[in-house]
Amino acid sequence: MTDDELTLLVQKISIKYFNKKFKHQAFFNTRLKTTGGRYSLKEHWIDINPKILEKYSCEILIGVIKHELCHYHLHLDGYSGKHSSNEFKSLLKKVGGSRYVPILEKQKSLRYVCQDCGRVYIRHKKINSLKYVCSKCHGNIKLS
Ligand SMILES: [Zn+2]
Ligand SMILES: [Zn+2]
Repeated sequence: MTDDELTLLVQKISIKYFNKKFKHQAFFNTRLKTTGGRYSLKEHWIDINPKILEKYSCEILIGVIKHELCHYHLHLDGYSGKHSSNEFKSLLKKVGGSRYVPILEKQKSLRYVCQDCGRVYIRHKKINSLKYVCSKCHGNIKLS
């Protein structure tokens, strides 16, 4: 998907769910790391993290676009558009936007250590340490 196609999609969603026109540009921004999208208060641009399409579906992308459009329209209507504001919360709920893109958030790494040989295992997901044993010595591993 190109930036122009993305902008077209944003325009469509804006009309369909907000009944208002999106008159600015949307871009894929590879510099976004943990957020799915960003709205620029100064330029009125919407930046979208291209990883959303790589990792997820169009449905998630639409949820993120709706979220950024809430910022966009509230801002242009003179509201703060902050996440904590009532206007933001109720508009987001109304259009069914996503509150955040959970899996793009920084993954916390977990450190497991073999109780017998001391070998360290780094995992991003919690594992059942009763079921898994050390691959080197078959000792028990424990979250440290
Ligand atoms: Zn936001
Ligand atoms: Zn071991």
